[in-house]
Amino acid sequence: MSRFWSDIVHSLTPYVPGEQPKIDGLVKLNTNECPFGPPDSVVQAIAASSGDALRLYPDPTGSALKDAVARFHAAQGITPTHVFVGNGSDEVLAHIFMALLRHPAPLLAPDISYSFYPVYAKLYGITLREIPLAEDFSIRVDDFLAAGPNGGIIFPNPNAPTGMALPLAELCRLLDGNPDSVVVVDEAYVDFGAESADQLVTQYPQLLVVRTLSKSRALAGLRVGYALGQPELIEALTRVKDSFNSYPLDRLALAGGVAAMDDVAWFQDACARIVATRSRMTAGLQARGAQVLPSAANFVFATFPGRDAEAIAAGLRGQRVLVRHFRKPARIAPFLRISVGTEAQTDTLLAALDQVLPTLG
Ligand code: PMP
Repeated sequence: MSRFWSDIVHSLTPYVPGEQPKIDGLVKLNTNECPFGPPDSVVQAIAASSGDALRLYPDPTGSALKDAVARFHAAQGITPTHVFVGNGSDEVLAHIFMALLRHPAPLLAPDISYSFYPVYAKLYGITLREIPLAEDFSIRVDDFLAAGPNGGIIFPNPNAPTGMALPLAELCRLLDGNPDSVVVVDEAYVDFGAESADQLVTQYPQLLVVRTLSKSRALAGLRVGYALGQPELIEALTRVKDSFNSYPLDRLALAGGVAAMDDVAWFQDACARIVATRSRMTAGLQARGAQVLPSAANFVFATFPGRDAEAIAAGLRGQRVLVRHFRKPARIAPFLRISVGTEAQTDTLLAALDQVLPTLG
């Protein structure tokens, strides 16, 4: 007879993040981090709040960071009352699932999407209904609107791992046709060429926009993310947060987060460089026979017709280049997701492909 908790343990499905290698010297293009380190302004702000200050608990409201986020989005009508902050957008998403998506009607998400959503849905006992992407991998708003009653809708924009963006006009159509349940737009990759829904927040009470400092602000290691929404939804998230841990972020993350939101010049320059390198990388992949989906993210989703993507990934690893391959769902198994690196890393990737592709016949 098994112990009563065994069934519980076996029913939990953990999320498996991309590999964080323990060896040095790899060209790491597998988890969509920023290829550049954060700016000095951020490093100095973290150093300045270290030392003796660590004796003290952090601000339980995270108000300095909410203010900085509101400053960045001020032109879109965002004030601190529209902002919720957390330890990376994964934690922000977890609070959204817990606070706002536990509804008897199913949660709708694309069938090809961020693989964390099914994990959260299962953890919180939420029925997930996956809506297939179109033939060209785009999100079809009409299919979401035709799906019947829902307890919420969630998708990344740009989508992951495809990198494809949904135009804002299409998002408005979804919001107009779906006034009564929460619509979560996960904008982890929005800064690399998609239109942000931040400008819709004051207009749509059902909208939550989730953002991260992990990608375009080079702070994946610090864990800072936030949500934008009208005060009623933000209040729901705050209530749930306070029942987990009433300190949203530690002192170092708050200080680094504020400095990162305020260093707009660095942020804009980093995004522009990544977008330029993405174009060159896309052209390089296409010159080697790849089909590349149109990307608005800091990664591309590419397939080499007639070649086994898993074998290419293994071959690249042999050349010390890490990229991401997903076995499931079957429709994306022929693809590789490759993060945009530095210019030098892009050269290394393309040279490694020149070694690997001929060996695969
Ligand atoms: N959303 C999407 C679509 C992502 O790809 C990621 C990164 N894995 C996240 C959210 C979470 O990012 P973070 O927790 O670092 O903010």
